[in-house]
Amino acid sequence: MSTTSRPSQLLIRQEKDTFLNEENPFEAMMSRFDYAAQRLSLDPGLYKVLRSPEKQIIVSVPIHRDSGEVEVYTGYRVLYNTSRGPAKGGIRFDMNVTLDEVKALAAWMTWKCAVVNIPFGGSKGGVICDPATLSNAELERITRRYTSAIIETLGPDSDVPAPDVNTNERMMAWIMDTYSMHKRHTVTAVVTGKPVEMGGSLGRREATGRGCMIVTREMLKKVGMPIIGTRVAVQGFGNVGSIAAQLMEELGLTVVAVSDKSGALYNPKGLRIKELQQHVKQHRFLSEYKGADHITHDEVLTVDCDVLVPAALENVITSHNARDIKARIICEGANGPTTANADKILEEKGVFLIPDILANAGGVTVSYFEWVQDRGGYFWDEETVNRRLETIMVRSFQEVIAKAEKYKVNTRIASYIVAIDRVAAMHRLRGMYA
Ligand code: NAD
Repeated sequence: MSTTSRPSQLLIRQEKDTFLNEENPFEAMMSRFDYAAQRLSLDPGLYKVLRSPEKQIIVSVPIHRDSGEVEVYTGYRVLYNTSRGPAKGGIRFDMNVTLDEVKALAAWMTWKCAVVNIPFGGSKGGVICDPATLSNAELERITRRYTSAIIETLGPDSDVPAPDVNTNERMMAWIMDTYSMHKRHTVTAVVTGKPVEMGGSLGRREATGRGCMIVTREMLKKVGMPIIGTRVAVQGFGNVGSIAAQLMEELGLTVVAVSDKSGALYNPKGLRIKELQQHVKQHRFLSEYKGADHITHDEVLTVDCDVLVPAALENVITSHNARDIKARIICEGANGPTTANADKILEEKGVFLIPDILANAGGVTVSYFEWVQDRGGYFWDEETVNRRLETIMVRSFQEVIAKAEKYKVNTRIASYIVAIDRVAAMHRLRGMYA
Protein backbone atom coordinates (compact mmCIF):
# COMPACT_ATOMS: atom_id res chain seq x y z
CA MET A 1 0.00 0.00 0.00
CA SER A 2 1.43 3.33 -0.97
CA THR A 3 1.40 6.07 1.62
CA THR A 4 1.51 8.95 -0.80
CA SER A 5 -1.63 11.01 -1.30
CA ARG A 6 -2.94 11.51 -4.80
CA PRO A 7 -6.29 12.41 -6.26
CA SER A 8 -8.44 9.33 -6.19
CA GLN A 9 -11.77 10.55 -7.53
CA LEU A 10 -11.69 8.59 -10.76
CA LEU A 11 -10.75 5.35 -9.10
CA ILE A 12 -13.32 5.79 -6.35
CA ARG A 13 -16.16 6.26 -8.82
CA GLN A 14 -15.08 3.28 -10.91
CA GLU A 15 -14.71 1.07 -7.90
CA LYS A 16 -18.02 1.94 -6.28
CA ASP A 17 -20.14 -1.16 -6.15
CA THR A 18 -23.84 -1.57 -5.72
CA PHE A 19 -24.01 -3.41 -2.44
CA LEU A 20 -26.53 -0.90 -1.23
CA ASN A 21 -29.36 0.52 -3.30
CA GLU A 22 -30.15 4.19 -3.72
CA GLU A 23 -33.08 4.29 -1.28
CA ASN A 24 -31.13 2.60 1.46
CA PRO A 25 -30.14 5.13 4.18
CA PHE A 26 -26.78 3.41 4.46
CA GLU A 27 -26.02 4.04 0.80
CA ALA A 28 -26.27 7.70 1.74
CA MET A 29 -23.74 7.03 4.46
CA MET A 30 -21.34 5.35 2.01
CA SER A 31 -21.66 8.22 -0.45
CA ARG A 32 -20.70 10.64 2.30
CA PHE A 33 -17.74 8.41 3.06
CA ASP A 34 -16.72 8.58 -0.61
CA TYR A 35 -16.92 12.35 -0.65
CA ALA A 36 -14.90 12.70 2.57
CA ALA A 37 -12.31 10.25 1.20
CA GLN A 38 -11.96 12.40 -1.91
CA ARG A 39 -11.56 15.59 0.12
CA LEU A 40 -8.85 13.85 2.13
CA SER A 41 -7.19 12.71 -1.11
CA LEU A 42 -7.14 9.26 0.39
CA ASP A 43 -4.69 6.92 -1.25
CA PRO A 44 -6.64 4.62 -3.62
CA GLY A 45 -5.16 1.50 -2.02
CA LEU A 46 -6.29 2.60 1.42
CA TYR A 47 -9.68 3.55 -0.01
CA LYS A 48 -10.10 -0.03 -1.21
CA VAL A 49 -9.17 -1.36 2.22
CA LEU A 50 -11.51 0.98 4.09
CA ARG A 51 -14.53 0.21 1.94
CA SER A 52 -14.25 -3.55 2.41
CA PRO A 53 -15.58 -5.34 5.49
CA GLU A 54 -12.89 -7.48 7.12
CA LYS A 55 -15.08 -10.43 8.00
CA GLN A 56 -18.68 -11.44 7.27
CA ILE A 57 -20.26 -14.36 9.06
CA ILE A 58 -23.61 -15.99 8.24
CA VAL A 59 -24.92 -18.59 10.67
CA SER A 60 -27.98 -20.78 11.08
CA VAL A 61 -29.64 -20.48 14.45
CA PRO A 62 -31.83 -23.53 15.06
CA ILE A 63 -33.98 -23.61 18.21
CA HIS A 64 -36.96 -25.48 19.59
CA ARG A 65 -40.00 -23.24 19.71
CA ASP A 66 -42.11 -23.52 22.89
CA SER A 67 -44.44 -25.77 20.89
CA GLY A 68 -41.62 -28.28 20.40
CA GLU A 69 -41.35 -27.49 16.70
CA VAL A 70 -37.87 -26.73 15.30
CA GLU A 71 -37.32 -23.33 13.69
CA VAL A 72 -34.13 -22.14 12.01
CA TYR A 73 -33.24 -18.42 11.98
CA THR A 74 -30.46 -16.71 10.05
CA GLY A 75 -27.89 -14.64 11.90
CA TYR A 76 -25.09 -12.34 10.76
CA ARG A 77 -22.02 -10.78 12.29
CA VAL A 78 -19.85 -8.39 10.31
CA LEU A 79 -16.51 -7.05 11.52
CA TYR A 80 -15.96 -4.04 9.33
CA ASN A 81 -12.58 -2.79 10.48
CA THR A 82 -10.51 -3.71 13.54
CA SER A 83 -7.32 -1.77 12.83
CA ARG A 84 -7.84 0.53 15.86
CA GLY A 85 -8.91 -2.15 18.34
CA PRO A 86 -11.56 -4.78 19.06
CA ALA A 87 -14.69 -4.51 16.94
CA LYS A 88 -17.61 -2.84 18.70
CA GLY A 89 -21.22 -3.00 17.60
CA GLY A 90 -24.74 -3.94 18.55
CA ILE A 91 -26.91 -6.94 17.72
CA ARG A 92 -30.41 -6.39 16.37
CA PHE A 93 -33.30 -8.84 16.21
CA ASP A 94 -35.59 -7.78 13.38
CA MET A 95 -37.38 -9.14 10.31
CA ASN A 96 -35.68 -6.49 8.14
CA VAL A 97 -32.12 -7.51 8.97
CA THR A 98 -30.05 -8.15 5.83
CA LEU A 99 -26.35 -8.78 5.33
CA ASP A 100 -26.00 -5.50 3.41
CA GLU A 101 -27.60 -3.54 6.21
CA VAL A 102 -25.39 -5.21 8.81
CA LYS A 103 -22.29 -4.43 6.69
CA ALA A 104 -23.22 -0.79 6.44
CA LEU A 105 -24.05 -0.48 10.13
CA ALA A 106 -20.69 -2.08 10.96
CA ALA A 107 -18.97 0.55 8.80
CA TRP A 108 -20.94 3.23 10.61
CA MET A 109 -19.67 1.94 13.97
CA THR A 110 -16.11 2.07 12.67
CA TRP A 111 -16.44 5.77 11.86
CA LYS A 112 -18.33 6.56 15.06
CA CYS A 113 -15.67 5.02 17.31
CA ALA A 114 -12.97 6.85 15.36
CA VAL A 115 -14.74 10.24 15.61
CA VAL A 116 -14.64 10.08 19.40
CA ASN A 117 -11.17 8.50 19.23
CA ILE A 118 -11.87 5.43 21.33
CA PRO A 119 -9.71 2.37 20.61
CA PHE A 120 -12.35 0.25 18.91
CA GLY A 121 -13.11 -0.89 15.41
CA GLY A 122 -16.64 -1.37 14.14
CA SER A 123 -18.95 -4.36 13.87
CA LYS A 124 -22.64 -5.18 13.84
CA GLY A 125 -24.80 -8.28 14.09
CA GLY A 126 -28.35 -9.34 13.60
CA VAL A 127 -30.78 -12.24 13.55
CA ILE A 128 -33.76 -12.26 11.20
CA CYS A 129 -36.68 -12.83 13.55
CA ASP A 130 -39.75 -11.07 14.87
CA PRO A 131 -39.28 -10.66 18.64
CA ALA A 132 -42.95 -9.68 19.05
CA THR A 133 -43.94 -13.26 18.18
CA LEU A 134 -41.35 -14.94 20.38
CA SER A 135 -41.58 -15.80 24.07
CA ASN A 136 -38.80 -14.83 26.49
CA ALA A 137 -37.63 -18.43 26.59
CA GLU A 138 -37.45 -18.55 22.79
CA LEU A 139 -35.53 -15.26 22.70
CA GLU A 140 -33.11 -16.67 25.24
CA ARG A 141 -32.55 -19.81 23.10
CA ILE A 142 -31.96 -17.69 19.96
CA THR A 143 -29.55 -15.39 21.82
CA ARG A 144 -27.54 -18.26 23.29
CA ARG A 145 -27.42 -20.31 20.07
CA TYR A 146 -26.43 -17.25 18.00
CA THR A 147 -23.71 -16.45 20.56
CA SER A 148 -22.28 -19.96 20.40
CA ALA A 149 -22.43 -19.89 16.57
CA ILE A 150 -20.22 -16.77 16.40
CA ILE A 151 -18.16 -17.50 19.48
CA GLU A 152 -14.80 -17.62 17.66
CA THR A 153 -15.05 -13.95 16.74
CA LEU A 154 -16.40 -12.78 20.09
CA GLY A 155 -14.15 -11.71 22.93
CA PRO A 156 -13.00 -8.62 24.84
CA ASP A 157 -9.95 -8.41 22.56
CA SER A 158 -11.71 -9.16 19.28
CA ASP A 159 -15.41 -8.30 19.08
CA VAL A 160 -17.67 -6.80 21.75
CA PRO A 161 -21.45 -6.70 21.08
CA ALA A 162 -24.01 -4.39 22.66
CA PRO A 163 -27.81 -3.94 22.49
CA ASP A 164 -29.42 -2.55 19.34
CA VAL A 165 -32.94 -2.66 17.85
CA ASN A 166 -35.08 -5.13 19.86
CA THR A 167 -32.25 -6.38 22.05
CA ASN A 168 -31.65 -5.27 25.62
CA GLU A 169 -29.54 -5.68 28.75
CA ARG A 170 -31.25 -8.99 29.62
CA MET A 171 -29.97 -10.44 26.33
CA MET A 172 -26.48 -9.03 26.95
CA ALA A 173 -26.52 -10.97 30.24
CA TRP A 174 -27.33 -14.19 28.30
CA ILE A 175 -24.50 -13.50 25.84
CA MET A 176 -22.07 -12.91 28.69
CA ASP A 177 -23.19 -16.11 30.39
CA THR A 178 -23.01 -18.24 27.23
CA TYR A 179 -19.56 -16.94 26.33
CA SER A 180 -18.33 -17.40 29.91
CA MET A 181 -19.61 -21.00 30.08
CA HIS A 182 -17.65 -21.81 26.90
CA LYS A 183 -14.50 -20.16 28.29
CA ARG A 184 -14.96 -21.84 31.68
CA HIS A 185 -14.56 -18.54 33.52
CA THR A 186 -16.54 -15.32 33.85
CA VAL A 187 -15.77 -12.77 31.11
CA THR A 188 -17.83 -9.64 31.75
CA ALA A 189 -15.97 -7.53 29.15
CA VAL A 190 -17.32 -9.59 26.22
CA VAL A 191 -20.43 -7.39 25.93
CA THR A 192 -21.47 -3.89 26.98
CA GLY A 193 -24.89 -2.54 27.86
CA LYS A 194 -25.15 -5.18 30.61
CA PRO A 195 -27.09 -4.75 33.85
CA VAL A 196 -25.04 -2.70 36.34
CA GLU A 197 -25.17 -5.63 38.81
CA MET A 198 -23.09 -7.78 36.45
CA GLY A 199 -20.48 -5.30 35.27
CA GLY A 200 -22.53 -2.69 33.42
CA SER A 201 -21.48 0.94 33.79
CA LEU A 202 -23.26 3.60 35.78
CA GLY A 203 -24.33 6.36 33.40
CA ARG A 204 -24.61 4.06 30.34
CA ARG A 205 -28.40 4.34 30.13
CA GLU A 206 -28.22 8.14 30.00
CA ALA A 207 -25.01 8.38 27.96
CA THR A 208 -26.41 8.92 24.46
CA GLY A 209 -28.89 11.59 25.57
CA ARG A 210 -26.19 13.21 27.72
CA GLY A 211 -23.84 13.31 24.74
CA CYS A 212 -26.57 15.02 22.68
CA MET A 213 -27.02 17.63 25.38
CA ILE A 214 -23.26 18.30 25.58
CA VAL A 215 -22.73 18.79 21.83
CA THR A 216 -25.88 20.92 21.54
CA ARG A 217 -24.60 23.14 24.35
CA GLU A 218 -21.23 23.42 22.56
CA MET A 219 -22.92 24.29 19.26
CA LEU A 220 -25.03 26.99 20.97
CA LYS A 221 -21.83 28.50 22.36
CA LYS A 222 -20.11 28.22 18.97
CA VAL A 223 -22.85 30.05 17.06
CA GLY A 224 -23.47 32.60 19.83
CA MET A 225 -26.97 31.53 20.81
CA PRO A 226 -28.08 31.67 24.44
CA ILE A 227 -28.90 28.59 26.49
CA ILE A 228 -31.64 29.99 28.66
CA GLY A 229 -34.90 30.11 26.76
CA THR A 230 -33.63 28.44 23.60
CA ARG A 231 -36.48 26.25 22.32
CA VAL A 232 -36.04 22.56 21.55
CA ALA A 233 -38.20 20.01 19.72
CA VAL A 234 -37.45 16.31 20.19
CA GLN A 235 -38.71 13.53 17.94
CA GLY A 236 -38.77 10.22 19.82
CA PHE A 237 -39.22 9.89 23.56
CA GLY A 238 -37.34 6.67 24.22
CA ASN A 239 -33.91 6.23 25.72
CA VAL A 240 -32.13 8.89 23.66
CA GLY A 241 -34.93 11.45 23.18
CA SER A 242 -36.34 11.48 26.71
CA ILE A 243 -32.92 11.76 28.38
CA ALA A 244 -31.73 14.42 25.91
CA ALA A 245 -34.94 16.38 26.59
CA GLN A 246 -34.55 16.01 30.36
CA LEU A 247 -30.90 17.10 30.41
CA MET A 248 -31.50 20.00 28.01
CA GLU A 249 -34.36 21.17 30.23
CA GLU A 250 -32.09 20.92 33.29
CA LEU A 251 -29.49 22.98 31.41
CA GLY A 252 -32.01 25.81 30.91
CA LEU A 253 -33.40 25.17 27.45
CA THR A 254 -37.16 25.13 26.92
CA VAL A 255 -38.47 21.89 25.41
CA VAL A 256 -41.52 22.98 23.41
CA ALA A 257 -42.36 19.76 21.53
CA VAL A 258 -41.82 16.01 21.91
CA SER A 259 -43.22 12.99 20.12
CA ASP A 260 -43.28 9.23 20.23
CA LYS A 261 -44.91 6.72 17.91
CA SER A 262 -48.30 7.33 19.57
CA GLY A 263 -48.41 11.09 19.05
CA ALA A 264 -46.83 14.50 19.54
CA LEU A 265 -47.15 17.24 22.19
CA TYR A 266 -46.57 20.98 22.00
CA ASN A 267 -46.42 23.78 24.52
CA PRO A 268 -44.68 27.00 23.46
CA LYS A 269 -44.06 27.85 27.15
CA GLY A 270 -42.27 24.54 27.73
CA LEU A 271 -43.29 20.97 28.50
CA ARG A 272 -42.53 19.38 31.87
CA ILE A 273 -40.16 16.59 30.88
CA LYS A 274 -40.00 14.76 34.24
CA GLU A 275 -43.81 14.67 34.30
CA LEU A 276 -43.85 13.25 30.75
CA GLN A 277 -41.30 10.59 31.70
CA GLN A 278 -43.52 9.63 34.63
CA HIS A 279 -46.53 9.52 32.31
CA VAL A 280 -44.71 7.22 29.87
CA LYS A 281 -43.63 4.96 32.74
CA GLN A 282 -47.27 4.53 33.76
CA HIS A 283 -49.07 4.64 30.39
CA ARG A 284 -46.27 3.62 27.97
CA PHE A 285 -47.12 6.32 25.41
CA LEU A 286 -47.45 10.11 25.26
CA SER A 287 -50.78 10.15 23.41
CA GLU A 288 -53.04 10.30 26.47
CA TYR A 289 -51.15 13.12 28.18
CA LYS A 290 -53.53 15.99 28.91
CA GLY A 291 -51.18 18.84 29.89
CA ALA A 292 -50.25 20.06 26.37
CA ASP A 293 -51.60 20.62 22.87
CA HIS A 294 -51.50 17.64 20.53
CA ILE A 295 -49.87 18.16 17.14
CA THR A 296 -49.09 15.78 14.29
CA HIS A 297 -45.95 13.68 13.97
CA ASP A 298 -44.77 15.74 11.02
CA GLU A 299 -45.26 19.04 12.84
CA VAL A 300 -42.70 18.13 15.49
CA LEU A 301 -40.00 18.43 12.86
CA THR A 302 -41.17 21.76 11.47
CA VAL A 303 -42.47 23.41 14.65
CA ASP A 304 -41.18 26.87 15.58
CA CYS A 305 -38.04 26.10 17.60
CA ASP A 306 -34.28 26.75 17.70
CA VAL A 307 -32.93 23.22 18.16
CA LEU A 308 -34.33 20.04 16.63
CA VAL A 309 -33.33 16.64 17.99
CA PRO A 310 -34.48 13.77 15.76
CA ALA A 311 -34.09 10.80 18.14
CA ALA A 312 -36.36 8.11 16.73
CA LEU A 313 -35.93 6.83 13.20
CA GLU A 314 -33.89 6.94 10.02
CA ASN A 315 -34.77 9.13 7.03
CA VAL A 316 -37.22 11.51 8.71
CA ILE A 317 -35.65 14.72 7.41
CA THR A 318 -35.95 14.53 3.64
CA SER A 319 -36.15 16.81 0.60
CA HIS A 320 -39.93 16.98 1.31
CA ASN A 321 -39.71 18.67 4.70
CA ALA A 322 -36.17 20.07 5.00
CA ARG A 323 -37.22 23.49 3.65
CA ASP A 324 -39.92 23.78 6.33
CA ILE A 325 -37.59 23.16 9.24
CA LYS A 326 -37.29 26.26 11.42
CA ALA A 327 -34.58 25.08 13.80
CA ARG A 328 -31.15 26.67 13.44
CA ILE A 329 -29.42 23.66 15.01
CA ILE A 330 -30.11 19.98 14.36
CA CYS A 331 -28.63 17.43 16.76
CA GLU A 332 -28.97 13.92 15.31
CA GLY A 333 -29.72 11.65 18.25
CA ALA A 334 -30.92 8.89 15.92
CA ASN A 335 -28.74 7.14 13.37
CA GLY A 336 -29.29 8.40 9.82
CA PRO A 337 -32.29 10.71 10.38
CA THR A 338 -31.33 13.01 7.47
CA THR A 339 -31.12 12.00 3.81
CA ALA A 340 -28.30 13.19 1.58
CA ASN A 341 -30.73 15.39 -0.40
CA ALA A 342 -31.98 17.01 2.78
CA ASP A 343 -28.38 17.65 3.84
CA LYS A 344 -27.94 19.90 0.80
CA ILE A 345 -31.09 21.87 1.57
CA LEU A 346 -30.15 22.31 5.22
CA GLU A 347 -26.68 23.48 4.22
CA GLU A 348 -28.19 26.08 1.87
CA LYS A 349 -30.47 27.26 4.66
CA GLY A 350 -27.47 27.68 6.96
CA VAL A 351 -28.64 25.12 9.53
CA PHE A 352 -25.93 24.06 11.98
CA LEU A 353 -25.86 20.27 11.90
CA ILE A 354 -24.42 18.04 14.61
CA PRO A 355 -24.12 14.77 12.63
CA ASP A 356 -25.16 11.40 14.05
CA ILE A 357 -21.72 9.82 14.25
CA LEU A 358 -20.74 12.63 16.60
CA ALA A 359 -24.07 13.56 18.24
CA ASN A 360 -25.04 10.07 19.42
CA ALA A 361 -21.53 8.76 20.11
CA GLY A 362 -21.99 9.23 23.87
CA GLY A 363 -23.49 5.73 24.01
CA VAL A 364 -20.52 3.93 22.53
CA THR A 365 -18.16 6.11 24.55
CA VAL A 366 -19.67 4.90 27.82
CA SER A 367 -19.74 1.36 26.39
CA TYR A 368 -15.99 1.81 26.06
CA PHE A 369 -15.87 2.93 29.70
CA GLU A 370 -17.84 -0.21 30.63
CA TRP A 371 -15.29 -2.41 28.82
CA VAL A 372 -12.41 -0.57 30.51
CA GLN A 373 -14.02 -1.00 33.95
CA ASP A 374 -14.73 -4.71 33.36
CA ARG A 375 -11.17 -5.36 32.24
CA GLY A 376 -9.71 -3.41 35.12
CA GLY A 377 -12.15 -4.92 37.62
CA TYR A 378 -12.52 -1.46 39.13
CA PHE A 379 -15.75 0.49 38.82
CA TRP A 380 -16.16 4.23 38.63
CA ASP A 381 -18.82 6.35 40.26
CA GLU A 382 -21.37 8.03 38.02
CA GLU A 383 -19.79 11.45 38.40
CA THR A 384 -16.48 10.09 37.03
CA VAL A 385 -18.26 8.45 34.06
CA ASN A 386 -20.10 11.69 33.23
CA ARG A 387 -17.01 13.85 33.60
CA ARG A 388 -14.97 11.64 31.27
CA LEU A 389 -17.83 11.52 28.77
CA GLU A 390 -17.99 15.31 28.86
CA THR A 391 -14.26 15.59 28.10
CA ILE A 392 -14.49 13.25 25.09
CA MET A 393 -17.66 14.80 23.63
CA VAL A 394 -16.36 18.39 23.91
CA ARG A 395 -12.99 17.46 22.40
CA SER A 396 -14.62 15.53 19.55
CA PHE A 397 -17.01 18.40 18.82
CA GLN A 398 -14.09 20.82 18.59
CA GLU A 399 -12.13 18.47 16.33
CA VAL A 400 -15.06 18.14 13.92
CA ILE A 401 -15.57 21.91 13.82
CA ALA A 402 -11.84 22.44 13.19
CA LYS A 403 -11.90 19.99 10.26
CA ALA A 404 -15.05 21.65 8.83
CA GLU A 405 -13.23 24.98 8.87
CA LYS A 406 -9.97 23.58 7.48
CA TYR A 407 -11.56 21.69 4.57
CA LYS A 408 -14.47 24.13 4.09
CA VAL A 409 -17.01 21.31 4.29
CA ASN A 410 -20.17 20.82 6.32
CA THR A 411 -19.96 19.17 9.72
CA ARG A 412 -21.20 15.80 8.42
CA ILE A 413 -18.38 15.51 5.93
CA ALA A 414 -15.99 16.90 8.55
CA SER A 415 -16.92 14.12 10.98
CA TYR A 416 -16.20 11.50 8.30
CA ILE A 417 -12.90 13.23 7.54
CA VAL A 418 -11.90 13.02 11.23
CA ALA A 419 -12.87 9.33 11.33
CA ILE A 420 -11.35 8.22 8.02
CA ASP A 421 -8.15 10.10 8.75
CA ARG A 422 -7.75 8.23 12.05
CA VAL A 423 -8.50 4.78 10.65
CA ALA A 424 -6.25 5.45 7.63
CA ALA A 425 -3.43 6.64 9.89
CA MET A 426 -3.55 3.36 11.79
CA HIS A 427 -3.38 1.38 8.55
CA ARG A 428 -0.40 3.39 7.35
CA LEU A 429 1.47 2.83 10.60
CA ARG A 430 0.67 -0.86 10.72
CA GLY A 431 1.47 -1.44 7.06
CA MET A 432 0.20 -4.39 5.06
CA TYR A 433 0.76 -7.85 6.56
CA ALA A 434 1.34 -10.40 3.86
P1 NAD B 1 -36.11 3.63 21.90
O1 NAD B 1 -36.76 2.42 21.37
O2 NAD B 1 -35.79 3.71 23.37
O3 NAD B 1 -36.98 4.94 21.54
C1 NAD B 1 -37.44 5.21 20.26
C2 NAD B 1 -38.53 6.26 20.40
O4 NAD B 1 -38.94 6.68 19.12
C3 NAD B 1 -39.80 5.77 21.11
O5 NAD B 1 -40.27 6.78 21.97
C4 NAD B 1 -40.77 5.56 19.96
O6 NAD B 1 -42.12 5.65 20.38
C5 NAD B 1 -40.36 6.71 19.09
N1 NAD B 1 -40.86 6.61 17.72
C6 NAD B 1 -40.98 5.52 16.91
N2 NAD B 1 -41.55 5.87 15.75
C7 NAD B 1 -41.79 7.20 15.83
C8 NAD B 1 -42.38 8.14 14.94
N3 NAD B 1 -42.82 7.79 13.74
N4 NAD B 1 -42.48 9.43 15.35
C9 NAD B 1 -42.04 9.81 16.56
N5 NAD B 1 -41.48 8.96 17.43
C10 NAD B 1 -41.37 7.68 17.06
O7 NAD B 1 -34.77 3.82 21.05
P2 NAD B 1 -33.49 4.67 21.40
O8 NAD B 1 -32.49 3.78 22.07
O9 NAD B 1 -33.89 5.94 22.07
O10 NAD B 1 -32.91 4.96 19.95
C11 NAD B 1 -33.42 5.99 19.13
C12 NAD B 1 -32.46 6.24 17.98
O11 NAD B 1 -31.17 6.55 18.51
C13 NAD B 1 -32.23 5.06 17.03
O12 NAD B 1 -31.94 5.56 15.75
C14 NAD B 1 -30.96 4.42 17.60
O13 NAD B 1 -30.27 3.66 16.61
C15 NAD B 1 -30.21 5.67 17.97
N6 NAD B 1 -29.13 5.45 18.95
C16 NAD B 1 -29.39 4.96 20.18
C17 NAD B 1 -28.35 4.80 21.10
C18 NAD B 1 -28.61 4.32 22.49
O14 NAD B 1 -27.65 4.31 23.29
N7 NAD B 1 -29.84 3.97 22.86
C19 NAD B 1 -27.03 5.10 20.73
C20 NAD B 1 -26.79 5.61 19.45
C21 NAD B 1 -27.85 5.78 18.57
